[in-house]
Amino acid sequence: MRTPIIAGNWKMNKTAAESVAFANEIKEALNQIEGVDIVFCPPAINIPGVAKAVQGTKIGVGAQNMYFEEKGAYTGELAPNMITPFCQYVILGHSERRAYFGETDEGVNKKIKAALAHNLTPIICVGESLEQNEAGETQSFVSGQVKAAFADLTAEQATACIIAYEPIWAIGTGKSATVEQAGGIIKTAVRDAIAELYGEAAAQAIRIQYGGSVTIENINAYMSHPDIDGALVGGASLKPGFVDLVKGAI
Ligand code: PEP
Repeated sequence: MRTPIIAGNWKMNKTAAESVAFANEIKEALNQIEGVDIVFCPPAINIPGVAKAVQGTKIGVGAQNMYFEEKGAYTGELAPNMITPFCQYVILGHSERRAYFGETDEGVNKKIKAALAHNLTPIICVGESLEQNEAGETQSFVSGQVKAAFADLTAEQATACIIAYEPIWAIGTGKSATVEQAGGIIKTAVRDAIAELYGEAAAQAIRIQYGGSVTIENINAYMSHPDIDGALVGGASLKPGFVDLVKGAI
């Protein structure tokens, strides 16, 4: 069976001191929760401090992005081997990176390959805009994003990844997708795309999260859907209530 995974994407929030203090505040309570994988994704500069704070606990650490090249003249970027001493995970292709920083499916695919080559687990974000949703394009767009992300990857590489289905209209808006909407797209556009590429065994093995205004109140309902294996959480991961949200996932 697939172990659920809840990842907190702290985005561009919390200073170094605040990040460490928050990790210290909630780590013991999170460490007691069995049956779920837990990940903190702090701002890049705060990663070493948070990694040190959660050392010896079950909490994993993820970067919110990285570059696919090994080194060189890429001002402002981080190479995979710069994050591997601290991170087990890396979020790739978040819709905010696609919208504000020009990330493309092709670039996301290169980053996935680089992450896997460095034994990092990619959390690959896909999801449609409100316009695409209203135009009835969700299914084809999301499944296209999944197929583009996995171009030239083997089944073994694919199942080492996590996919987060995050409808853009639900991120940070308080307007979460219904369980039926989220679970339906995760099944028909994400898991079925993996089945098409790699077969049913791979489709059943890969973990797929929902993301978009997940809260303490709604996490349990999402987790009741057989195709939803956890959540990528933004706003609600910044407060101590994150502990109860994680408890709600099991
Ligand atoms: C996210 O950051 O990926 C996200 C889903 O944010 P929020 O939970 O705030 O909607």
